[in-house]
Amino acid sequence: MTVERVLVAEPRGFCAGVEMAIKALTWMTRIFDGPVYCYHEIVHNEWVVRAFEGVGVVFVDHIDQVPEGAPLMLSAHGSAPEVVSGATARAAVVIDAVCPLVTKVHHEVKRMARDGYDIIYVGHEGHDEAVGTVAEAPSAIQLVEPESGLGDYQPNDPAKVALLAQTTLGVHEWMAVMDDARLRFPQLQMSRKSDLCYATTNRQDAVKQLAAECDLVLVVGSHNSSNTQALVRVARDHGMAAHRIDSADDIEASWLDGVAVVGLTAGASAPDHLVQEVIDRLSPTEGFELWSTIEEQEYFPLPPQLRSFVTTLQQLIEAGVTARDPGRDGWLQRDRDWTATEALEVVSA
Ligand code: SF4
Repeated sequence: MTVERVLVAEPRGFCAGVEMAIKALTWMTRIFDGPVYCYHEIVHNEWVVRAFEGVGVVFVDHIDQVPEGAPLMLSAHGSAPEVVSGATARAAVVIDAVCPLVTKVHHEVKRMARDGYDIIYVGHEGHDEAVGTVAEAPSAIQLVEPESGLGDYQPNDPAKVALLAQTTLGVHEWMAVMDDARLRFPQLQMSRKSDLCYATTNRQDAVKQLAAECDLVLVVGSHNSSNTQALVRVARDHGMAAHRIDSADDIEASWLDGVAVVGLTAGASAPDHLVQEVIDRLSPTEGFELWSTIEEQEYFPLPPQLRSFVTTLQQLIEAGVTARDPGRDGWLQRDRDWTATEALEVVSA
């Protein structure tokens, strides 16, 4: 396989929510003996899930699959209230790795429902994030698929309608639903911009710009990753041939017929070494180039309950033989500099 050039989108791959969730689960595997359980895939990426399974993490889809007293992590996508309460009743320790940007939408749902709004939630039926969010106020919410739009949706009161969204939608699809909703319900309530997160919009912006410069777009990410699938649709909507691949092994030689320049990006849960392997497999004769559109600085701290565990560990070590100097930075203070990629190296070593 050979092409002339590869343009690599930046930003791509891990977002702040995924960074936090992967590091949090890595900590869990280091702190607790025996299997650590995780409700739903920690993030939607096959390689990441296999790596954690390799160190004994057990992923479950129902809380009753978790043995009583086992340590349990809840995934980055956010969980339904009954899942959180069921988990708390069953597991000895529950750490919720929900992304704060998903939590924000959960809060919006609760507030709008409490204020008597009919809520239109634009999202993908059955996706973990959508399931968890809708469960916050099921009787007040109507889920609408972004591709199908509002259809014949009728609220109880057209003056009290709110519009919320899954964080990882295609921006263009979301905007089509939003424009229609604004037209139909002039007093529509929604968050100031939208619920789509910075990582979703930044990665899609980069692909839009990249698409104009290449002959084919490849998106690294797993089939159940909503933001990965959105990247493929964005590229196709901009007239490009585009394919999702889990890894370099999925590239079909026929895709490269007549292709000189390949644009390459990755969904928010795809590890970067998979992107590097794709570049190697494409063996570009003129090399690869970074296509940077914006620099991301976002950082989400570890979940509060996990932070208190780590603090206790730090204090124990301070009190022991291998004490760090009091006042010197410990693991928690250095978390911002520790990346999920380094955490995965620990897990897959
Ligand atoms: S894609 Fe967005 S909402 Fe999802 S984990 Fe990443 S930052 Fe959070």
